Amino acid sequence: MPELRKDPITGTWVIISEERKKRPKYYQIVVDKDLSIPENCPFCPGNEAMTPPETFALRPGHSPANTPGWELRVVPNKFPALRVEGSLRKSGEGFYDKMNGIGAHEVLIETPRHQHTWFDGDAQVIRNTLLAAKARVLDLNKDTRFKYIMVFKNFGPTAGATLSHSHTQLIALPVVPLRVQEEIDGARAHFELKERCIFCDIIQYESEADRRLLAENEHFIVLAPYAPRFSFELAVYPKRHNPSFESTSDGELESLSSILSETLGKVAKLLNRPDYNLIIHNAPCSNSVGEYYHWHIEFMPVLARVAGFEWGTGFYINPISPEESVQSLKAV
Ligand SMILES: [Zn+2]
Ligand SMILES: [Zn+2]
Ligand SMILES: [Zn+2]
Repeated sequence: MPELRKDPITGTWVIISEERKKRPKYYQIVVDKDLSIPENCPFCPGNEAMTPPETFALRPGHSPANTPGWELRVVPNKFPALRVEGSLRKSGEGFYDKMNGIGAHEVLIETPRHQHTWFDGDAQVIRNTLLAAKARVLDLNKDTRFKYIMVFKNFGPTAGATLSHSHTQLIALPVVPLRVQEEIDGARAHFELKERCIFCDIIQYESEADRRLLAENEHFIVLAPYAPRFSFELAVYPKRHNPSFESTSDGELESLSSILSETLGKVAKLLNRPDYNLIIHNAPCSNSVGEYYHWHIEFMPVLARVAGFEWGTGFYINPISPEESVQSLKAV
């Protein structure tokens, strides 16, 4: 019997329909990946002049900026979705609202090794990426034009990555995005009713119930959400109540990178290194949500396309229950 489940934070409905699995190719596993190194990869060492000048770098040998010798570089996106110059102007057009496209769009080039991926079991690359993201968020938070900073990673062409060299992106926005606002509103409603953080409640319930729990270490927990929109969707929560990613300690980030590396290793084995999106849901820059919001990571392998029903309803149909996805991931 299919089941309708409601996400307790956003109120999004999900249809868990295991019947759909009986269809041939109910999710897609790409077998052939292009692992060749393109001739002119702008993210490879030696090609630093192909990117805008760096805003941050890890250079253990203290080599000069914008030259080789780096472990990680952060550069403005050459084709930014939003631009950093100018002041924020809001205006109307008839009864429509608009504002100019102020923001920042940066790329974290995570490693000099072109073919390296987060599936390869090197927690150091993940740790460097998290440390750099934290440094950039702390810096961009000082710019009062920005209301929200979104850190995300697209891996593979079907997840939207246009360059194969391992990278993460960051976009600073002049507004709080709707999806985040929905989480904030849901979390506030729960807090007003129960005086507890809904994320802390989920963490406590899920670690006791142990039906959707995939991994746990000193500071973090990985689980499949009760109402996942996508097959094998996972959530990573810090155990300590903390609304903002950037106030995570370096020690906690170390612990996060090892649990992420371990989790991605399982995903790689079970799903043959799928394309994926990984996002950091953080508190808005003003951080006025301290008691009831709880930062976290959402991980979504791209195994099927979002289709008309999803676009039309905001409901999602998922052929694999979170209980089953965790069981198969644990078994690899
Ligand atoms: Zn490269
Ligand atoms: Zn919490
Ligand atoms: Zn979220």
